[in-house]
Amino acid sequence: MRDKYEAVIGLEIHAQLKTDSKIFCGCSTRFGDEPNSNTCPVCLGLPGALPVMNRRVIEMAARAALALNLNINHESIFSRKNYFYPDLPKGYQISQYDQPFSERGWVEIPTSERNESGHATEWQTKRFGITRLHLEEDAGKSLHEGMPDASKSYVDLNRSGVPLAEIVSEPDFRSSWEAYDYMQYLRRTLLYVGVCDGNMEEGSLRCDANVSVRVRGAEKFGTKVELKNLNSFKFLQKALEYEIDRQIAAVEAGEKIPQETRLWNERESKTYAMRSKEEAHDYRYFPEPDLPPLITAEELIQKLRAELPELPEARRRRFVEEYELSFEDAAQLTDSRGMADYFEEVVRPSGNAKAAANWILNELTRELKSAGIDIAHSPLSALQLAEMIKLIDSGGISGKMAKDVLIRMYQSGRPAEEVVREIGGSQVSDEASIRAFVDQAIQSNPRQLEQYRGGKTGLFGFFVGQVMKLSGGRANPQVVNEVLKNALEG
Ligand SMILES: [Zn+2]
Repeated sequence: MRDKYEAVIGLEIHAQLKTDSKIFCGCSTRFGDEPNSNTCPVCLGLPGALPVMNRRVIEMAARAALALNLNINHESIFSRKNYFYPDLPKGYQISQYDQPFSERGWVEIPTSERNESGHATEWQTKRFGITRLHLEEDAGKSLHEGMPDASKSYVDLNRSGVPLAEIVSEPDFRSSWEAYDYMQYLRRTLLYVGVCDGNMEEGSLRCDANVSVRVRGAEKFGTKVELKNLNSFKFLQKALEYEIDRQIAAVEAGEKIPQETRLWNERESKTYAMRSKEEAHDYRYFPEPDLPPLITAEELIQKLRAELPELPEARRRRFVEEYELSFEDAAQLTDSRGMADYFEEVVRPSGNAKAAANWILNELTRELKSAGIDIAHSPLSALQLAEMIKLIDSGGISGKMAKDVLIRMYQSGRPAEEVVREIGGSQVSDEASIRAFVDQAIQSNPRQLEQYRGGKTGLFGFFVGQVMKLSGGRANPQVVNEVLKNALEG
């Protein structure tokens, strides 16, 4: 039944720009401070206080816009969005309406449906349109005590006036996973260009979704439902999935879908109606008289464009081509800029991309994860890891020994050569020493030797094992193979 229908999804994402001070005043934007300690007459909305635009906000918004291929308007207008709410002391929010900061962008990214166990089924590159990115101030936060019949409510205005970029997509997503992959990409990109910390738990990145269903191939959109406050990737995907099923079932049953706002309830894995269209606000937008039009100079745009780092998707593609990595490895390595930088710092001196990817994605990631450390602060430097890879490639140590070496380097911060010496010397590669082990292995196993020479060549592995044991695991396996072969045939 589900194949008969398709979903139409659009996302509205609020990203907090990482400035030290608020958008229209000098108050701090620090998260977690004493409630109402970061406030002043401007962000408290006191009469007569006037907003002054924070220049850093313009630069950060421009970096985000450029990274998302948006066109930045030379002139944009701030408007008042009027509504009454206890955490909005002015009675309006300064936002942008009919002349936004930037418009008409897009991203082209890999996306895939997932199977039951959560694995991607088939990655395809798709283009998703971005309608606009505009600037606005955040509202405060209401805290209710003793829910559900809240006996007390508090208002914290530390967040009032924090700069936000609202990024509105086109209704281009046809499944929950497309929306999920887009949101992931957006977060990664904002982190790459350094304008948002991407912390969804602290509310630095928030997502609302519009979703409707229609019979596949139909041109007209179905009635859209708005899902509010989807504050994790998991919730976004699950809420969309639930909502698509709910709407299809309703349409199949001949019911009319009301236009409404719904909330995701994680405990019950359901969406609930919050308010209907009839209760929707009329915001009575009008231009903000206290702020002049925002002019974004072409020179600034050119300068910021030139400074833009290589973006995650471009970098992932380059990793596949230049280093011949798999799609998955390249995707994981470019997940953060720190990880991608680290990888390239290992590849340059070691010249071995495959090994660099393996060591970083397995052993190093495991160590960092268990210690809760970001790769940018890894106790094992990229140069140290490169040295270790060179030791393996030159036959100085075996891959098996290297695991031990890596852990010791990670813990002690000492160079590879020193650690190798400490744990009992490096790999034995010289033929004379290996021949001694081989001779010993053959002499102490005459029965197996006879069987081998009688045609039971499968016993070769047995002899390799004996040699490795005699050498304490230090014999170079390649040399062992050669010497042993000669000895057994001889
Ligand atoms: Zn303030």
